[in-house]
Amino acid sequence: MGQALRIGVMGGTFDPIHYGHLVTAEEARVQFHLDRVIFVPSGHPPHKEERKSLDPEFRYLMVVIATASNPFFTVSRMEIDRPGPSYAIDTVRELKRELGDGVELFFITGADAILEILTWKEPEKILEECIFIAATRPGYDLRRLEENLPESEKIRHRTDPRVLIMEIPALAISSTDIRRRVKEGRPIRYLVPEGVAEFIEKHGFYR
Ligand code: ATP
Ligand code: MG
Repeated sequence: MGQALRIGVMGGTFDPIHYGHLVTAEEARVQFHLDRVIFVPSGHPPHKEERKSLDPEFRYLMVVIATASNPFFTVSRMEIDRPGPSYAIDTVRELKRELGDGVELFFITGADAILEILTWKEPEKILEECIFIAATRPGYDLRRLEENLPESEKIRHRTDPRVLIMEIPALAISSTDIRRRVKEGRPIRYLVPEGVAEFIEKHGFYR
């Protein structure tokens, strides 16, 4: 048998997808020698009920548009086709079933998302299923990552870490800021791929 396939998983609401997501995924792919990265737009985000996000189908389409030119990027409909809220652990397990044995999954997140994941109920369960790649993100501090690890993980972290930290060129871009800019009539050019900006404009999203 050959070496295990190394697959990155980039989950997110992608409302809309922006260059912060794309740079993070591409850096992870190269730094950690991933064979490809699967983007998984969320269906009904369990942690974001306070704000109604754009229709999953449109968020999915924007991810397809944004990733189309990268031969190593694919997009999964898994979460948007699943009824009800999706939990990362279910997605990771389903991807493993789909991709079969001999696959190592790397869940790519920004600094905010990894810190949130570590405060979930039973984070050690998902740490069993996949390795995390946590990208630096302006406004979030990863220095305290180790103290947020579950007890069982702290020991292993020194020799065989399941959460890997990745330095990326700082991009203070967020979907929240992009939505606000569109609303206020300010430019989003150079923050999102051109096709995504055109798609937003064409459908009048976020106004
Ligand atoms: P929102 O402002 O609506 O929360 P967002 O910009 O945080 O949107 P999400 O879809 O919530 O985007 O994020 C998906 C994943 O991408 C998360 O793991 C998040 O931490 C990461 N991410 C988003 N933007 C950046 C960025 N600029 N740098 C590094 N990681 C990022
Ligand atoms: Mg976010």
